[in-house]
Amino acid sequence: MDVGLGVLLDAARLPGARLTDLAVRAEQRGLDLVVVGGVQGGLDPLTVAAWVAGATSRILVGVADAGVPPAPDTGDPEQPFPFVVDKSLDGLGLLSGDRLLRGPGAWSVAVDSTIDAVKAAAGAGVPVVVAVRTVHDVDRVVELRVVDHARRPASVRARRMPGIDYEGVPDVLAAGVVEPGDSAYRSVASTYMRGGAPGLVLRATTVEEVAAAITFARRHTDLPLGVRSGGHGFSGRSTNHGGLVVDVGGMDGVEVIDPDRRLVRVGPGASWKRVATALRPYGWAIGSGDAGGVGVGGLATAGGIGFLSRKQGLTIDRVRAVELVLADGSPIRASDDENPDLFWALRGAGANFGVATAFEIEAEPIGDVGWASLALVVDDVAEALEHYGRVASEAPRDTTLFMMIGPPRGGRSVMQLYGVVDNADPDTIISRLTPFARIGPIVQQSVTVSAYADVMDMTDTGPGGHQGVGEPVARSTLFREFTPEVARLAADAVASGGVGILSVRQMGGAIADVPEGATAFSHRDAGFAVAVLGSNARRVDAAWDPVRGLGIGSYLSFETDQSPERLGDAFPPPVLDRLRELKRRYDPGFLFRDNFPIDPRPADARLEETAR
Ligand SMILES: Cc1cc2nc3c(=O)[nH]c(=O)nc-3n(C[C@H](O)[C@H](O)[C@H](O)COP(=O)(O)OP(=O)(O)OC[C@H]3O[C@@H](n4cnc5c(N)ncnc54)[C@H](O)[C@@H]3O)c2cc1C
Repeated sequence: MDVGLGVLLDAARLPGARLTDLAVRAEQRGLDLVVVGGVQGGLDPLTVAAWVAGATSRILVGVADAGVPPAPDTGDPEQPFPFVVDKSLDGLGLLSGDRLLRGPGAWSVAVDSTIDAVKAAAGAGVPVVVAVRTVHDVDRVVELRVVDHARRPASVRARRMPGIDYEGVPDVLAAGVVEPGDSAYRSVASTYMRGGAPGLVLRATTVEEVAAAITFARRHTDLPLGVRSGGHGFSGRSTNHGGLVVDVGGMDGVEVIDPDRRLVRVGPGASWKRVATALRPYGWAIGSGDAGGVGVGGLATAGGIGFLSRKQGLTIDRVRAVELVLADGSPIRASDDENPDLFWALRGAGANFGVATAFEIEAEPIGDVGWASLALVVDDVAEALEHYGRVASEAPRDTTLFMMIGPPRGGRSVMQLYGVVDNADPDTIISRLTPFARIGPIVQQSVTVSAYADVMDMTDTGPGGHQGVGEPVARSTLFREFTPEVARLAADAVASGGVGILSVRQMGGAIADVPEGATAFSHRDAGFAVAVLGSNARRVDAAWDPVRGLGIGSYLSFETDQSPERLGDAFPPPVLDRLRELKRRYDPGFLFRDNFPIDPRPADARLEETAR
């Protein structure tokens, strides 16, 4: 259905909670729009549309004629005036992130839910909606798309890419697949950090669908395969050119499964903002990184260095079980008691072993926190880095301030510090921040007592999906401390012009409480994870190589150089050997290779491959 397919909800007939449930279901099942109609009595469609827009994040929201009769009766105080309605619609358009469609004419309504009725309505060249009353009805609309998938129009088929068996997509997946000629393609082709043009995106929302997608991918091993959850990968190529992408972004549930143990079951497609918001009423939090838009799937398989790590450990340290689908298509569960070897590997090198479909994570109680953002002007970057390193190392575990700095302008740089004091007392917050504030003159500051969920910002993910362009260049090195030499060489790198931004994530504290070797994630003695970003790999390397030499390892999530040396930086030899052995067991055909692939073949075969 190239024009788009969606559902029509009758606000006059359906109870309020059902309306949002149906809209959320339509979004999860990959439909394109939800139209709120029902002008005669019942709930006001415009209010319902606002409610629906708030409960969803991607799907377009149409509001039928917004309750405005063609010729309003100015004597009737019950009737809305057009300018009031227009203003409300404009507001809703902005708040929904430009997802609002205004009828009539922006969609056409199928007379019933048969494929023939849908095809007839599609003749108008605008998205088609089908009236629904139950979740089952929504699923039937999805099935219409399945039926239609096999008969994609010639204009869509003309944009198919070589080497992909488009006609062989399993039926169970057909509702969610997006081809280059489909209207939804633009919203799924790229990720946050990179531009892409995959040949087929397989959106899976159940374990069965993930298994079918993997089985389909196994028939295409000569093509790149990306696995996508939140689409924020640097090291992970969750998009590609001409290959396949398995997208589990729709598996985004967050459910408390054991309140006594604060155990939460989280889907890989949930954003960390969504997790934080869902746990807010419980007074709990799961630490992640610094950006709410990042997905659970990529972060909870790699590490997770965030504002709460110094108190709670890495995100992977809170994970109690992972469910995934292996390269052979079989579902498996890994925890301390079930497949413990695999569980070990999934916490640091998870992307190599399968597609995670659910995580069970133990949350921690949290109250309001101090949320700080300070901009300081620094003349001597080396001195400021060393100063920051010293203050950060001495800070108590409740205080975590990340740092970013760019190249000097006019001999001065702006150092941005942002982070959390896990304490709601203003005096404590101020005393914790004061040593950081002494690094240089403050030109901007904001310090608030906030809910942790409000700290998790996700302004980076637009409603039209990710629109990244090009290929990021990032290098990542772990340091124990900012020695004068590290600070000087890092400052030189920033000044070189080869590096656009240097960012530092404070580590230490509870991260190092977990014994080295307990997870595949290594180098727990690091005090700082430093990443540099640029656009030209040669220039970034020229600037960064001298600094890297002083590091103790790498956090791969911020590294885009996929050479074997970098794999070695992240995983010391015994860890890498064990990972390789497990890769041989769980992915002998080397299917998962979009994110620092660990080659399962013996060393001599790998060498031959490199030589070719
Ligand atoms: C703006 C920004 C800020 C960040 N801040 C932090 C931070 O503070 N701390 C930190 O630790 N990291 C941070 N990161 C890095 C981030 O954790 C990783 O890039 C992570 O991989 C993104 O996960 P995702 O699901 O959003 O990405 P995706 O692009 O969807 O996935 C990235 C890779 O992860 C793997 N993957 C994804 N889903 C699954 C799955 N279901 N099963 C198995 N493997 C999967 C795949 O190899 C994939 O290529 C940040 C990234 C960005 C872009």
